[in-house]
Amino acid sequence: MDKPDYAKAVSFIYNEVQDLYGVGVKASYIPALKSVDSKQFAMTLVDDQKNIYSVGDDKVNFSIQSVTKVFTLCMALNEVGEEIWGRMDREPSGKSFDSLIRLEEHHGVPSNPFLNSGAIVIADILLEFYGKHVIDRYLSFLRTVTGNKKISIDKTIFLSEKVTGHKNYAFARYMKSFGNIINDIDDVLDVYFSFCSVSLNNIDLAKAFYFLMNKGESLDGTRITSHRHCKRINSLMFTCGTYDEVGDFAYLVGLPAKSGVSGAIGGCLPGHYSVSVWSPELNIKGNSVLGYKALELLTTIIDKSYLS
Ligand code: GLU
Repeated sequence: MDKPDYAKAVSFIYNEVQDLYGVGVKASYIPALKSVDSKQFAMTLVDDQKNIYSVGDDKVNFSIQSVTKVFTLCMALNEVGEEIWGRMDREPSGKSFDSLIRLEEHHGVPSNPFLNSGAIVIADILLEFYGKHVIDRYLSFLRTVTGNKKISIDKTIFLSEKVTGHKNYAFARYMKSFGNIINDIDDVLDVYFSFCSVSLNNIDLAKAFYFLMNKGESLDGTRITSHRHCKRINSLMFTCGTYDEVGDFAYLVGLPAKSGVSGAIGGCLPGHYSVSVWSPELNIKGNSVLGYKALELLTTIIDKSYLS
């Protein structure tokens, strides 16, 4: 089969989604996210030959938010392995990312590592493992997978999350009461907020997902993780990666992907391409309106003859 014309696909999609501005709203519970210009969209695809196809506002930096949870999970699997599943499950929660209900029902055990509660446990695990080097190690991981040595934390976002992250403190305290958080709550939350506050652009994000489509090897040939871990992370993204809309997302898009409240979504089609989209306006479930549509179009039109 001929290779799809990805260049044509992304520029077609760029035009198609332009009418969707104003349908969604930006996340406002983290005040710093409100000041981002709403009318922005970027889409980047990296194919299996390492060609990069990119359109829109792809050089504008944004905070990674929950997409970070893919990479922190990968680090925890690399360093600690399957033991992490003693502290969280691998099931979609059927609730919003910041709901306390399931956590209470499950006695302080998060339903999956892509919920805030699950990612806070991962932050605790990585803090335990790396100690005071945890943030440096994380930045170094992201610099390797993106190939961008300048990846760093946006301090304004970090502080904005810290002063308004009351629910995240509630999750951590609640889990600590069951012994599912080991370290000091403030230290764990500082690590968690730092993970979410990493600043990058859409091209960085598509590159970062490359190892997940490429059996664990990044664009520059570094082994990031095993093929086995990639399979598992991709499965978790497919079942738990796009909030309480994951069933519809799987039905309409059909890719393993992780979204975040900054309007970013990263994903891949294993063996074929990694892809990222970014546009700040979100639907009611927390997924980027333009980004979601762009991915749905990508997997729908890619083999159609009008693109060849
Ligand atoms: N930093 C955000 C929070 O903790 C991440 C939420 C998200 O992107 O889903 O609420």
